Amino acid sequence: MHEYGITESLLQIVEDRAREAGVTKVATIRVVVGALTGFVPDCIQFYYETMSKNTIAEGARLEFEELPVRLRCRVCSEVFIPADREWTCPVCGSSEADIEGGRELYIKEMEVS
Ligand SMILES: [Zn+2]
Repeated sequence: MHEYGITESLLQIVEDRAREAGVTKVATIRVVVGALTGFVPDCIQFYYETMSKNTIAEGARLEFEELPVRLRCRVCSEVFIPADREWTCPVCGSSEADIEGGRELYIKEMEVS
């Protein structure tokens, strides 16, 4: 259910940006969602449709770009995408890695009409 709050924030950003740019209609919103955020695009979509009613962003299409988890090996600094729960470096075999990416959540682009 935490998608509710995030959708509200996204919509707020879209409205602010559209207003700043003097836009009256938003056509497409491209959202980047990292795998570690746990956000489900379908849920965001669902809330979005309800919340965007009577706003500048009503009827806009949401497009999601899902980013995988990326790890950086602590031993050899290799950045890799782990397979499921095997967080093992493909280069040196170390299982000590730091999270490099996957927590992203932001609006990448907006198309207006
Ligand atoms: Zn390594």
